[in-house]
Amino acid sequence: MSIETPVKNPSIPAESASAVSAPFDTAEFDANVMGTYGRFPIALVRGQGCRVWDTQGREYLDFVAGIATCTLGHAHQALIETVKGQIERLHHVSNLYYIPVQGELAKWIVNHSCADRVFFCNSGAEANEAAIKLARKYAHTVQEIEKPLILTAKASFHGRTLATITATGQPKYQQNFEPLMPGFHYVAYNDIQAIEHAIEELDEGNQRVGAIMLEPLQGEGGVRPGELEYFLRLRKICDQTGILLILDEVQVGMGRTGKYWGYEHLGIEPDIFTSAKGLAGGIPIGAMMSKQFCDVLQAGEHASTFGGNPFACAAALTVTKVLEQENILQNVQQRGEQLRTKLRAIALKYPNLVAQVRGWGLINGMELKAEIELTSLDIVKAAMKQGLLLVPAGPKVIRFVPPLIVSASEIDRAAQIVEEVMAALAG
Ligand SMILES: *Cc1c(COP(=O)(O)O)cnc(C)c1O
Repeated sequence: MSIETPVKNPSIPAESASAVSAPFDTAEFDANVMGTYGRFPIALVRGQGCRVWDTQGREYLDFVAGIATCTLGHAHQALIETVKGQIERLHHVSNLYYIPVQGELAKWIVNHSCADRVFFCNSGAEANEAAIKLARKYAHTVQEIEKPLILTAKASFHGRTLATITATGQPKYQQNFEPLMPGFHYVAYNDIQAIEHAIEELDEGNQRVGAIMLEPLQGEGGVRPGELEYFLRLRKICDQTGILLILDEVQVGMGRTGKYWGYEHLGIEPDIFTSAKGLAGGIPIGAMMSKQFCDVLQAGEHASTFGGNPFACAAALTVTKVLEQENILQNVQQRGEQLRTKLRAIALKYPNLVAQVRGWGLINGMELKAEIELTSLDIVKAAMKQGLLLVPAGPKVIRFVPPLIVSASEIDRAAQIVEEVMAALAG
């Protein structure tokens, strides 16, 4: 099947033919849905593997995957069977009761990470909120800090709730939402001196740093991997001072980097970490993990109505099984290497356009030269016209986050489209 130029897709079933021919009414949509998103003018209605189709029957190679979320791609047979079976049996009950599949998922996470305990919620921001609450309680009850501070990084991204936009070290996400949450302070990423200075300077009266929250690789902030040396030294500082190390694994966790967790690239273990996006392959879920020593939340102190319900947990458990049974981590490593090699060849061919290609496994970024006018959005729009979905990570970085099941020929095809787009823009 060709995705060279968007064409009518003959494999769309006949019964949906009327929907296929009608152009999607974006004006009506925008009249009713709040304008909080800058949307591209296509409406996607079907997917299979790493491909999706819009209302016009045009086919796209999906290197966005719901922003690093559709771990197993679209319409994966195992996920279909799981959610069908679970909705027929039991899809939701309260945490007033024991939920066996929640326990099974927690056990898998505990067995496949440094965590001892798991709390389930529904999104990345919620998982980070839970981590912030846990760190604050630990500060008050164990570290004996009256006014605990959490250090986070500049150019970070931790979510859109009030506490998590405060944690997010980017003013554009905070503007007009003041007053922000107290208790956060920002430092440069991958800069150990910035951390040392902040810990020393902020230790004043009843105020002190209780936790440091970072992404192992900054996703939204431009696909910037954490540096091994920085994290090794950071871990030492935390061990010496008793400061908690929290890692936000919402975008990079669950196999995205070719290892289950981003921290495995950094030679350290966090005290607390969070997961969400890829955890259930596109079914809403979030999770906050902690080591036993800082598991200080007691019954009634934190909760979520939907958190850890049978539907979401069954989906996540199936994702874990497919990752293991189909050796997906190896695919992530190999396809990631393949993609970076291809993108680096493009970078060499167009040195006036491309500054750098970087990433781990299947989270990769192509950074454009700062001094040219071309933006990541320009490239994303041009690639979309050629049938390839990509997503910016800031104004200069194009992000590649395909499903983890992506094939070698799909990587080749995506790189080929990027090359064609670059050639057209350079010429
Ligand atoms: C996407 C993201 C979040 C927010 O997740 P939501 O599910 O949108 O709330 C938090 N942290 C990181 C690193 C993310 O990439």
